[in-house]
Amino acid sequence: MTMPIILPRQEAPVAAIATPVGVGALAVLRISGEGVFDIAQKVFRKKNNPNFRFTASKGFRAHFGTVHDSEGLIDEVVALVFRSPNSFTMEDMVEFTCHGGPVVVQHILKVLLDEGCRLAEPGEFTRRAFLNGRIDLLQAEAIGEMIHARTESAFRTAVTQMQGTLSLRLDAMRELLLRSCALLELELDFSEEDVEFQSRTQLQEELAGLQEELHRLVDSYQHGRLLKEGVATVIAGLPNAGKSTLLNVLLGEERSIVSHMPGTTRDYIEECFLYEKTMFRLTDTAGLREGGEEVEHEGIRRSFKKISEADLLVYLLDISLESYLDEVPLIRDLLERNSNARMIVAANKIDLATGSEERLQKLRAATGCEVCALSAAKGEGLEALKRLMSTMVEGLDKLHEASVLVTSLRHYEALRNASDALANAQELITRQAETELIAFELRSALDYVGEITGKVVSEEIVNLIFEQFCIGK
Ligand code: GDP
Repeated sequence: MTMPIILPRQEAPVAAIATPVGVGALAVLRISGEGVFDIAQKVFRKKNNPNFRFTASKGFRAHFGTVHDSEGLIDEVVALVFRSPNSFTMEDMVEFTCHGGPVVVQHILKVLLDEGCRLAEPGEFTRRAFLNGRIDLLQAEAIGEMIHARTESAFRTAVTQMQGTLSLRLDAMRELLLRSCALLELELDFSEEDVEFQSRTQLQEELAGLQEELHRLVDSYQHGRLLKEGVATVIAGLPNAGKSTLLNVLLGEERSIVSHMPGTTRDYIEECFLYEKTMFRLTDTAGLREGGEEVEHEGIRRSFKKISEADLLVYLLDISLESYLDEVPLIRDLLERNSNARMIVAANKIDLATGSEERLQKLRAATGCEVCALSAAKGEGLEALKRLMSTMVEGLDKLHEASVLVTSLRHYEALRNASDALANAQELITRQAETELIAFELRSALDYVGEITGKVVSEEIVNLIFEQFCIGK
């Protein structure tokens, strides 16, 4: 169990470029922390107002002027003032908007560092917002997810999370748990007298309600993950069926080596593509074939793992082979390995097949799956395949768009642990176990829920989360 720790307030002034590297119309640099107004004062001159003082400026004011170093003018800028606590970090902050050339930006950054700022670490601004209590950990992570969102739905979910909807629910849960814990611990203090401050029946009812809510959140992860990461799609099939070729045309680039030798796709790679509003996360699997070298065995083992985790399976076969129906048992086997996945059989190399319509019919009848004709090499049938993929997963990523969703593995695991601890507590109450044991399980559940919003969290976890941010955020 993680012990609560007091996180230090970090106040030394930091600076960072907040916009992406490269040429743009404008770029933004930001500084935050104690003394940033004095630092800004040293480098900035307000147009037509030599007496301007940052320390005297109101918050949310923009000042037009120039930035200088010891050798002279660097650029014309707009300096935007934020006064503590009304800023992103809750500290005093200044944002400089300058022209977006990389040299200009680096120049201004250097002056700010020379005048006393330290270069901000990745995510340090958001980290300060968290440490200063403006946002909780969940909201901080949502900012990162919003920035990295690749689909509209992922973006919407992140925005909801940033607004604190999930945080509010978790806080309410924590409050309930805290109250029960406090009452049980009070009983322990009076253990000599054999009193019951909280009736066990009432406690059971409360815990059942909490458990229901926890289960709902845990279950929402499947959809949350889908929204964030895309539909896990596996292209499976025997070696030489055309999997690499298909992957390449879907992604529009040469991603994995296409080869004439069976069994050359040794590992799997993962890439995403967006079709209409759905994001597919594609895995090019090793060819499914028994035997072969050691390396390939390992590849096949991993392929089966990917298959069991997939949301969508695209089984590719070479329809021009006389033996195409021999693969039907393999297709059935895959369906058994993952009964949750949707399956499409793509009959590839249709350009080489004779009597293809009859072959497709037979395949449909033998597998009971959606079958589509394809020539990955010629790009024929590709649009139909993508449309079919999209229809097959329709609804999967939209189901929970409006409700609160768990999208992060960290949150999912913490919620599952909380739910397990709660289940233990429920069981202990049923068995009329000692109060001490019940209180212990409730405390664990409390800590796990607290881990998510950052109420109870180790510094290590905080570091891990913010390291994933970019500099300047
Ligand atoms: P993998 O082993 O399943 O990844 O198969 P590859 O993508 O490496 O393809 C094996 C061979 O089949 C290559 O020579 C491809 O050019 C060829 N190929 C793939 N798709 C088609 C197709 O639709 N038509 C024809 N004629 N050849 C194809």
